[in-house]
Amino acid sequence: MSVLVIVPAAGMGTRFGTPVPKQFQLLAGKPIVQYVVERFLLSGFVEKVVVAVSDALLATVKQAPGDRVQFVAGGETRQQSVMAAFNAAGTDFDVVAVHDAVRPFFRMRTFEALLDAAREFGAALPAIPVTDTIHATQDGKLTSTLDRTNLVSAQTPQVFRYDVLRDALDRAVREKFDATDEAGIAARCGYDVRVIAGDPFNIKITRPEDLALAEAHFEEWSAE
Ligand code: C5P
Repeated sequence: MSVLVIVPAAGMGTRFGTPVPKQFQLLAGKPIVQYVVERFLLSGFVEKVVVAVSDALLATVKQAPGDRVQFVAGGETRQQSVMAAFNAAGTDFDVVAVHDAVRPFFRMRTFEALLDAAREFGAALPAIPVTDTIHATQDGKLTSTLDRTNLVSAQTPQVFRYDVLRDALDRAVREKFDATDEAGIAARCGYDVRVIAGDPFNIKITRPEDLALAEAHFEEWSAE
């Protein structure tokens, strides 16, 4: 099995509130995105990791032919960044994983379970049940309450057979649909997207408080 990993890392991180986007913030002395790339490279299945970064950063990156890590310019939205990386990667892969640059705490065993499920069914993502009550609001007022019974919170890596992601992304472009994750696009296109148990520790470092949590969690965390 030959696996391509796409890491969208071209966001500006406006919610983080610092000039350095969240994915390049240091966690125990190393940029968050570096943990992500290094962990995927440890997998024997992963042939290539393509990281979408901003134009400014791309200009500073040196790439050697044959490197397992490739950098490309991202787009204006996450989906456009994923598309840019996917188009630049080549086509010789069985399976593609898309992983947020800001989730350094994913587990190898979850990744491998996702690879198996994606090969069998077409697509798979890790998710955790929603425990908070979710309300819709407008202008600061609560307007309705969602039934949380079947709601889950999506995580990454999200894994797809190559042909499934190719078709889903192409259709999203044709139908002018921009989504916040690829599993949602694949499901919208009618593919069987399997949900695998995610991990509450696989947090998305989005706000400064998340980085403080990540630092506290870093010491005792194991990536198995
Ligand atoms: O904005 P959000 O938190 O959903 O971003 C998720 C991931 O997508 C981050 O790793 C971010 O850097 C990336 N992203 C991107 N290109 C964009 C916007 C977000 O690669 N234009």
